[in-house]
Amino acid sequence: MFDFRGFFEGANAKLRRKHHYRVFRELRRSPGRFPRAEWHAPDGSWRDVTVWCSNDYLGMSQHPAVLDTARAALARYGAGAGGTRNISGTTDLLVALERELADWHAKDAALLFSSGYVANDTTLATLARALPGGVVFSDAANHASMIQGIRASRQRCVVFRHNDAAHLDGLLAAHDPAAPKLVAFESLYSMDGDIAPLADLLTVAKRHGALTFVDETHAVGVHGPRGGGLLEAHGLLDTVDVVQGGLGKGVGVVGGFITGAAAIIDFVRSHAPGFIFTTALPPHVAAAALASVRHLKTSGLERAALQARVASVRSALAAAGVPIAPAPGQIIPLVIGDAAACRALADELLEVHGIYLQAIVFPTVPRDGARLRITPGPLHTDADQAQLVAALASAFARRQAA
Ligand code: PLP
Repeated sequence: MFDFRGFFEGANAKLRRKHHYRVFRELRRSPGRFPRAEWHAPDGSWRDVTVWCSNDYLGMSQHPAVLDTARAALARYGAGAGGTRNISGTTDLLVALERELADWHAKDAALLFSSGYVANDTTLATLARALPGGVVFSDAANHASMIQGIRASRQRCVVFRHNDAAHLDGLLAAHDPAAPKLVAFESLYSMDGDIAPLADLLTVAKRHGALTFVDETHAVGVHGPRGGGLLEAHGLLDTVDVVQGGLGKGVGVVGGFITGAAAIIDFVRSHAPGFIFTTALPPHVAAAALASVRHLKTSGLERAALQARVASVRSALAAAGVPIAPAPGQIIPLVIGDAAACRALADELLEVHGIYLQAIVFPTVPRDGARLRITPGPLHTDADQAQLVAALASAFARRQAA
């Protein structure tokens, strides 16, 4: 008989040998203290650490308006939605949130999902599968959730070189002009921190009559005059058919969404398994996201403070000789390469300095592309920054000397 246990134990041991085995850092975050958190150290103690790798880019998870609204909704509605969207789960808060999100992107309608992952996976699978003889054109660096959705559609997929509008143009031109085409890419890539040439890609896609899908997971809340994302920042919202966003990062809560023309949103609402066959988001989650999005539409304070801190950390690290990768957004990648070396550096930062920077290894990044991903936020102080820069500078000085 097949030895299932031995098989999986062997596979896990292989991961450990390659330093790709994942060990989660156990944390306690407390409202009002972020980016400080408590870390459950291997000796069983809880130690104060400073988090430098969170996607809670603006600290909205602990914003007083978000917390008050969530608490009030919990008291008013209870803990869960009680059903799928179709079977008793559609609270007025979800409807209000979808309206708010559609307005964020100046689109007819929006649709909520349990996560950004599900939004990508089920939307791309549903839209692509529906197109007769459809072909999907996917950026080479697209997120796993997009790749998964495209694969699940079982349509032909053509991969274009990362951020290469000319390559996309050539590939689109090589296909039957009559075939329905879908072009999918991200606006802000979270592991390299780079931003897509949005206008170029969209111009090319439109020239070939393709439907466009842009993942703004890491950009909503963070970019644009109303926090709508990079498409808003570049005045391109009206040139995109489907915009995908996340509620778990800049918005500080959890969930994902798409916005677009009523006919497209209605189609996904009626056909996407990842939307239909799952319990709706809880009312207090919807209330928290609603408060956060409403706040971010009118307040530029958090975005301005974030940008100032990112610029300051970037220039201080560069001046101290820390080899950060150039990236225009709020994410500062520090590529180490070797997974074991990256883990050792992350361990040292945490255990010696109380600095939490997660080592990011395969499959989130390529096998030889292990890295630390620094995400400065509006709540980091000058003292936090000085401590980070000193710790990284001394670690890199030692690496160079070795
Ligand atoms: N899209 C991109 C580009 C991402 O990086 C991620 C996750 O980090 C997701 C989608 C999934 O978002 P969520 O964490 O809301 O599931």
